[in-house]
Amino acid sequence: MADRYLSFTGTAPGRFLTRRLGLPQPAPLQRWSPERPSLMGDRLLLTAGKSDLGLTDADARTALGRDLTTAPCGKPAAVVLDATGVRDVETLAEVHAALHPVVRSVAESGRIVVLGAPLESADHHQAAVQQALEGFTRSLGKEIGRGRTVNLVRLADAHAAESTLRFLLSPKSAYLSGQVIEVGSAPADVTAPHDPPHDTDRPLTGRTALVTGGARGIGEAVAETLARDGARVVVLDVPQAEQDARRVADRLGGTALALDITSPDAGARIAAALPDGLDVLVHNAGITRDRRLVNMPAEHWSSVLDVNLASVLRTTDALLESGTLKRGGRIVATASIAGLAGNAGQTNYGASKAGIVGLVRALAPRARAEHGVTVNAVAPGFVETKMTAAIPLFIREAGRRMNSLAQGGLPIDVAETTAWLADPGSSGVNGQVVRVCGQSLLGA
Ligand code: NAD
Repeated sequence: MADRYLSFTGTAPGRFLTRRLGLPQPAPLQRWSPERPSLMGDRLLLTAGKSDLGLTDADARTALGRDLTTAPCGKPAAVVLDATGVRDVETLAEVHAALHPVVRSVAESGRIVVLGAPLESADHHQAAVQQALEGFTRSLGKEIGRGRTVNLVRLADAHAAESTLRFLLSPKSAYLSGQVIEVGSAPADVTAPHDPPHDTDRPLTGRTALVTGGARGIGEAVAETLARDGARVVVLDVPQAEQDARRVADRLGGTALALDITSPDAGARIAAALPDGLDVLVHNAGITRDRRLVNMPAEHWSSVLDVNLASVLRTTDALLESGTLKRGGRIVATASIAGLAGNAGQTNYGASKAGIVGLVRALAPRARAEHGVTVNAVAPGFVETKMTAAIPLFIREAGRRMNSLAQGGLPIDVAETTAWLADPGSSGVNGQVVRVCGQSLLGA
């Protein structure tokens, strides 16, 4: 379902009218394309406090990679503020001092990434001001406008965060704002033999990725994006969608697997179909059966919980225990902002997606320690797919606009986030639930 309002506000009369009426003015987002793989503008490295990272501009260039801002236009498009050295309220003022003069000039669809210190070892003064960075980031994200995003990365080691910074400072993260992402160290046991990636354009070369529900919508975009990044993809979907799954797989040079993920033997059948093992497991299949609890039949409850949560738990266990999921592997599950904030008419769906968050947080440390596998989740907000096209008009329009970017996301936005989590360079990202929601007001 096309966003006609977004197209209208892109015209001169549309801009005039919406400005006069005080209506939202969504900026067209710059997304990744082979023709425009980088942000348009300069890069700027700022510091607040005495940084422990010792990030020099040269380091930043290496850590931030070559994806960044190759087309100088006199305005910064990628601003990194190293605030890891902020330890008290006085030095917190340097955050204001660094960004206040710059914010106005940040290019359209530009990125601000604030680097913060991990909270675990901080005393209460340092913890207070490092936590303050979170409120700062989320507030700036809500006011900055013009398709610009602001995110906070808590990190101990700039090099472990390379893939994360490369993603956040690229057009691939167009719909991700107001997020706090923790990046730990990248232990050798979650790093496959050929890490770090030799080719940042195709970091998944030589890897196999399975995408459940890959025949359409977000899953199809995930399969496409992982294939773009070099993976051999296996597109799993229900037998009724086999033709579509095959069409997607053929286009991407992958294979289709017709399988209902709720089958008790789904894990065993996936393992049998992948004798050489699996590197990336994307749990994307999901359904909704919306009703308020008073009207909800038990079948609506059980089918949603079975597809969205129980089958994820079962297949994850089976593929880890059988060793199908290889060392250095990645699990990316799909939550939803409905699971974080709750949504009327979705007690079943909200429960299932909150369950995914619980699964990710509990399994991540264990899967890393025992199997060398990272476990993360994407939590989409309003994404333009057949699922959201079925929502009644007024509720759909509210869902689309109620975020800092005043528009819905596209399947590609969730897919790019999944590809970053699947990247061999993302070993330090574990147990994270990353919202891809344009900083939705729901549960913000
Ligand atoms: P979609 O309905 O367009 O696609 C879902 C796919 O999953 C379909 O191809 C379907 O056949 C498949 N599927 C369903 N049950 C299955 C089963 N038992 N076994 C195998 N495959 C099965 O949905 P979408 O909008 O692309 O959503 C994808 C994921 O993102 C879902 O988990 C959904 O809950 C989540 N999500 C979507 C949005 C959004 O705005 N679209 C928001 C938050 C979360």
